[in-house]
Amino acid sequence: MANISLNKALLARLLRYTQIYTTSDASSQTVPSTPQQWDLLHLLKEEMQALGLSDISLDDKGYLFATLPATIDKPVPVLGLLAHVDTAPAFNGKNVKPQVIERYGGNDILLAGSGDKLSAKVFPSLNKLIGHTLVTTDGTSLLGADDKSGIAIILSVVEYLLAHPEIPHGKIRIGFTPDEEIGRGAKHFDVAKFGADVAYTLDGGPVGELQYETFNADEATVTLYGRSVHPGYAKDTMINAWTRACEYQHLLPPHLTPPTSEARQGFIFLRNMEGSTDECRIHYALRSFERAEIENYQKMLFETMEKMQQKYGEQCGKVEIKEHYRNMGEVLVHYLYLIDIAKQAMESQGITPNIDPIRGGTDGARLSFMGLPTPNLFTGGENFHGPFEFISVDTMNQSANVVINIAQKFTTYPFHSGESL
Ligand SMILES: [Zn+2]
Repeated sequence: MANISLNKALLARLLRYTQIYTTSDASSQTVPSTPQQWDLLHLLKEEMQALGLSDISLDDKGYLFATLPATIDKPVPVLGLLAHVDTAPAFNGKNVKPQVIERYGGNDILLAGSGDKLSAKVFPSLNKLIGHTLVTTDGTSLLGADDKSGIAIILSVVEYLLAHPEIPHGKIRIGFTPDEEIGRGAKHFDVAKFGADVAYTLDGGPVGELQYETFNADEATVTLYGRSVHPGYAKDTMINAWTRACEYQHLLPPHLTPPTSEARQGFIFLRNMEGSTDECRIHYALRSFERAEIENYQKMLFETMEKMQQKYGEQCGKVEIKEHYRNMGEVLVHYLYLIDIAKQAMESQGITPNIDPIRGGTDGARLSFMGLPTPNLFTGGENFHGPFEFISVDTMNQSANVVINIAQKFTTYPFHSGESL
C-alpha cells in the first residue's frame, strides 16, 4: 500500500487538541480527576458526531466510545483504538502554545516563551528528523502530544476510512479515556460496553515502537517503630525509628536500584520516607519484568525485616506489599498475532519495528488483564512530560498509515480458531 499523506489533518488536529488544558491530578478523588478534561471530551464527541461515527457514548466517568462500522461482511475480530485525553501533572499543561517548524533543518529550535533551545546536541534523536515538520512547545508548558497525538492519529485515520469505504476493514471501536497519567485510565473502563476483542493504545514514542511488555509492579511499605523521648534526656531510652529505617535500607542489595539497572533488569526503588522518631515508613516501588523476580524482591524485603527483628525484637517493624500491576506480556503471549500484524504493517511501510519492553506501565497493561489485550504503538512524540516535548508530524503520519494497514490486515490474517473470535 502506498503511503497516504494525512499530514495536514494530523497537524490541524494536534494543534487544536494540545491547546486545550487537560492536566489530570492524582490528589483529586473525582472522576475524571479534573473538570477541564471534559472540555476536550465534549469537543471530541462533537467531532465524532460531525464525522458520522455511530454508537457514540460519553459516560459520566469521562469515557468516550464510538464505532466505525465494518466495510466487509466477513467476521473478523473487533479492533479497538485507544488514546487518553489527559496530560501529565508533572509539568504545566495550561496555555500550551505549540510552535510549528516546517522542514526542520537540524539547527537549534528557540522555544520562544522561555528562551530555552531544543538542540540536537542534547536530544540527538532530532538528527533523525531532518526535513520533518516538527511541533514543539514554547518552553513554558509541556506539549501534550502525549497523548493528543494518539487522538489526532485515530480520528484522522477514521476520517480517511470513512471517505474511502472501498478499503476493507472490520468493525473498529474508538475509545478516549481520562486520567491515564495518574494511573487511573483503566479503572472505570467498561470492557464489555467497549465491545472490542483486542485493541492498541496509540501512546508510544519514536517511530517503530511496538510494546507488549510492561513491568510487574508492587508498592511496599516498610514500617519501623521507635520510642520517642526528649532528645536531651534520651540516653539509653530513645529508639529512633529513622535510624532503624536507615539501617533497614542499608541491608538491601545496592545494585538493585533505578540508577543501576536498565533493559530487562528490575529494581527496588526507595521512593519516599516519612514519619517521626516514633514510627517511620519507607515506601518502595518494586519493578521487574519477571514474576519470579518480583516475588524474590518481596522475599528480600521480608527477610531483611526478619534480620532486624532478630536484632531488635519481633515488634520492631513490619512489611506490607500491595500488587500494583502485572506485565501485560503474560496475557499478550496468547495474542501474538497482534504483534505479528503490527510488525507486518510497519515493515510494509519500510519501518523497522522496535519491540523493547516498557520500563513502566500503561493503561494497556491493566486492560489486558481486564480482558482487552492491548499492546502499544508509536505516535512519534518524544521527551514527554516536560518543556522539551516535541513530535514529528511526518512520524504521526507513519503511525496513521500503520493503523490503516493493521485494520486491513485484520481482514486477511489467518486467525486460528479460538484466537479471539
Ligand atoms: Zn501517554
